[in-house]
Amino acid sequence: MINTARRIEITGIVQGVGFRPFVYEIASKYLLKGIVYNTSSGVLIHIEGNQQAVDSFCKEIYEKHPPLAYISEINHFEEYTKGFSDFKILESIEDKLKSTLISPDISTCSTCLNELYDSNNLRYLYPFINCTDCGPRFTVIEKTPYDRKNTSMSYFKMCESCITEYTNPQNRRFHAEIIACTNCGPQLFLYDNNKKRISTENPIKKAIEILSSEYILAIKGIGGFQLAVDATNHDAVIRLREKKHRKDKPLAVMSYDMERILKYAYVDDTQKFLLKHIASPIVLLEKKEPFLLSKYISPKNKYIGVMLPYTPLHMLLIQNFLALVMTSGNKNNEPISKDNDEAFDNLSEIADYFLIHNRPILRRVDDSVIKIINNTPRFIRRARGYSPLPIIIKKNIPMILGCGADLKNTFCLTQKNKIFVSQHIGDIENFETYTSFKSTIEDMKKLFGINPEIVSYDMHPGYLTSKYAMELADIKKISVQHHHAHIASCMAEYCIDEPVIGLAFDGTGYGTDGNIWGGEVLVCEYKNFLRVGHLSYMPMPGGDLAVQEPWRMAISYLYSVYKNNLLNLDLPILKNIEEKKINIVIEMISKGINTPYTSSMGRLFDGIASIIGIRDKISFEGQAAVELEMISEGNYDSTYDYECTSKDLHKILLDPMILGIVKDMRTGIQISKISKKFHNTIISIFSNLCSIIYKETGLKKVVLSGGVFQNSHILIGLTQSLERNNFEVFSHKLVSTNDSGICLGQVMIASAIQ
Ligand code: ZN
Ligand code: ZN
Ligand code: FE
Repeated sequence: MINTARRIEITGIVQGVGFRPFVYEIASKYLLKGIVYNTSSGVLIHIEGNQQAVDSFCKEIYEKHPPLAYISEINHFEEYTKGFSDFKILESIEDKLKSTLISPDISTCSTCLNELYDSNNLRYLYPFINCTDCGPRFTVIEKTPYDRKNTSMSYFKMCESCITEYTNPQNRRFHAEIIACTNCGPQLFLYDNNKKRISTENPIKKAIEILSSEYILAIKGIGGFQLAVDATNHDAVIRLREKKHRKDKPLAVMSYDMERILKYAYVDDTQKFLLKHIASPIVLLEKKEPFLLSKYISPKNKYIGVMLPYTPLHMLLIQNFLALVMTSGNKNNEPISKDNDEAFDNLSEIADYFLIHNRPILRRVDDSVIKIINNTPRFIRRARGYSPLPIIIKKNIPMILGCGADLKNTFCLTQKNKIFVSQHIGDIENFETYTSFKSTIEDMKKLFGINPEIVSYDMHPGYLTSKYAMELADIKKISVQHHHAHIASCMAEYCIDEPVIGLAFDGTGYGTDGNIWGGEVLVCEYKNFLRVGHLSYMPMPGGDLAVQEPWRMAISYLYSVYKNNLLNLDLPILKNIEEKKINIVIEMISKGINTPYTSSMGRLFDGIASIIGIRDKISFEGQAAVELEMISEGNYDSTYDYECTSKDLHKILLDPMILGIVKDMRTGIQISKISKKFHNTIISIFSNLCSIIYKETGLKKVVLSGGVFQNSHILIGLTQSLERNNFEVFSHKLVSTNDSGICLGQVMIASAIQ
């Protein structure tokens, strides 16, 4: 006897995660009639039946939803009964005005893996097996709602047996939109780098042979191509580095299972949880000695980036290897290649063979990278598995585009209380990445139906992202100081809406006085900020060249203390760098030629690394600083001297520290200890400074942001020291602490001052 009807509107991640089949199952259980369908804003259910059954239904929908679903809102409305005779899943109704959340790409589930290795299964060894619980999403969705016709699988016609599964409410692939099998789905093809097809019955078997013979294989993955070689083979790794022009920057690896990872790296419980997580990120793990993989994978680094196979294709390829190097398929810092032709154009100079398929990738999404610091996962790069999940804030804000920074760019778009941070775009320093930045903005605007009324961007006049923003028509423009954005970004993660002390430590950020900032203490709220302290300005001889060549900063610091007498010091730098070059740099500093001023913490790390002989030139961003962090050792807490002048603001003078370091070098103190003592000093300086600022302002919340906080010693040490002094300390968990996090801060600031 039907006596009640209800309409239920659900928003969140409810498409592509088996939500409608789940609703169908619950409705059948309670013998309820009605319909369920996807809309552009989520899922809509109309349900009829007796009151008690309807109540139980509603309760179960909320409490027992599928594991990958995320309900952000659920609304119930009483309805007239319409006399449905059964319960049905309907075709989608498009509603262009609203948007829904879209699921990230999800690693292959265990049920699918069992089927993959079951010789009686229809999808035995089928490299594109997936179900409602797993598989690509963000990279195959053209537009919402998530229906097969709106995905890159629309090119494939389902076979009879797939149709049977897709339409059977009892089947676990009921309405699995990208369902596919050996007979009807995407297929693999193997090519050489002359674009000549290799004829083979079994492309995977052949690809394994290729990898076993030291060749470089380009693999079409989920969000783009990857380049793979046997990770135990020195020659193969060196060859990949040479061809990719990637001298020292660490390469990520992939292993078949935990057992194999444990042969070459330490894994704690948090790391294990992350490795096995449905997002399947690259996790930085500490290497085990003797290291069983090639030493060229992450030279001079304690850590190695490791992931588990997240697609059936990876699974099938990797079984014979301890690990495969699996690095982004791009050249010269350009965006990762995603289309077959594009990959042949971009990668044939690098890869020997190409393992490709015919399912189009609709958007580029790199692998995510996470480092655990203080038992907490921290994003180094937030992309596959996490994008495009939004950051949720407490209140609704206008639609804003935050352009981010030029290095490690991500941008974001806001919609009410949701901030959609884009996947990692990369360093916007060439035409290709800039084009990708612009087209990804258009893509996300369309996908989420967001038309920003405000654009916020970095104050740096030279940034391409800023130029892009300034050239936009019919939109309100708000420029934001770099470090203000860093701190606001971390405040947003914790929904902090009160003034805080912000410590912003990074390499480069354009300051309001035109100098290059980067060792900054701000008293900060969204609306504005006051710079209350900073590392004192140092000359940066050669400007950007001083970033590439840390020895220039070393001379700058040494010159500050010793002037021309620095030439008489007994330091490695004076043997490694020609005296002529040093003299030119001294002249640049003393005469102020092509020598901007900087308060950058990153440059300080660079300078110290060079003074103690770790590295004078770098081949990737932050290399010298990372190596300085890596060698830091010892259980002692002594510090170097420093001075703090406190006139209008607190300026940290480091001449006494430089003097101390040179003295330690002269007396033969190990550089691992000097590095530790240097780290201690930085922690102590800023912990003490926060106490002084507390006395001046009464502020007890300290927010940490900027790339330097990827350094474990600094993040852990400063957090502990501040907490001992009763400060409440906040650091990034949802977005990266480096420049890829600042778009979030930009939109928060823009919304406060608009
Ligand atoms: Zn599955
Ligand atoms: Zn099929
Ligand atoms: Fe920065």
